[in-house]
Amino acid sequence: MTARILDGRALAATLRAEILARAQALPYRPGLAVVLVGADPASSVYVRSKDRAAREAGLDARTIRLPAETSQAELLAVVQQLNDDPSVDGILVQLPLPPAIAARAVIEAIDPAKDVDGFHPLNVGRLQDNLPVLTPCTPRGVMKLLAHAGVTLAGARAIVLGRSAIVGKPVASLLLAQNATVTIAHSRTHDLAAECRRADVVVAAVGRAEMVRGDWIAPGATVIDVGINRLDDGRLVGDVAYDECGHAAAITPVPGGVGPLTIACLLENTLLAAEARRK
Ligand code: NAP
Repeated sequence: MTARILDGRALAATLRAEILARAQALPYRPGLAVVLVGADPASSVYVRSKDRAAREAGLDARTIRLPAETSQAELLAVVQQLNDDPSVDGILVQLPLPPAIAARAVIEAIDPAKDVDGFHPLNVGRLQDNLPVLTPCTPRGVMKLLAHAGVTLAGARAIVLGRSAIVGKPVASLLLAQNATVTIAHSRTHDLAAECRRADVVVAAVGRAEMVRGDWIAPGATVIDVGINRLDDGRLVGDVAYDECGHAAAITPVPGGVGPLTIACLLENTLLAAEARRK
């Protein structure tokens, strides 16, 4: 393996230390409110780690736990309270929500200035227009890893595998904003391997264990693997066959690549939202 391993844990630790220093210099504590509806085990784990990370970064974190039977109207009322609360700078409603609640209605109810997930349509539109914005956390983390890798994006051929609203599309917008030539691939793309082989930068956000093989990656390309897939034997792997990509210039491991940056970027978004709202 000669590829440089992009250590997301170390980069996230540096970012969190910067956030702590910036938060401590403020005359107030930026507030993050995380709302969890129901007791989905994976969501509960995520919410606990977000809460802990936020406290460690000097933020005023609170988690609001609501029962699984919470109605949409009740959840919207909680969001409204948080919108109105001046001590809350960032609001995150953990997805997925129970089936009786329309996630879209909840996302659209969050004050865009407190939308630290960056999912509100106003923030989605602002991202398309290259305006300063609360960027979705995982795509923001992808861009930080690329910057850390020292990749020159202007003029580079980048391919994004996956077109979800949470990862693929915002990553593509951010790459385009950095003047990369961007291809967005998805489940209907013909000859994905050939499309990948042309790319200087590959961002995989598909959710298929090790789908991207080593011979899909051009020598010297940079590979950012967003995928998190659990195998039957319990191991976590990405969307890229990591062990086959020694000829890449740089690659993120799974775990320990993009994942740690996602939470760090949530903290950064909360800080940015606080600084913008309270200036
Ligand atoms: P998603 O909403 O399920 O979207 C998956 C995308 O991949 C879709 O656009 C789909 O195409 C495409 N796709 C599926 N199978 C494909 C195939 N065989 N060939 C080409 N494209 C294919 O997933 P997501 O929310 O974007 O997440 C993607 C992965 O990232 C998952 O493993 C998820 O766990 C992980 N993730 C990680 C983090 C992190 O912090 N590290 C954060 C979020 C997500 P169509 O649109 O045509 O269906």
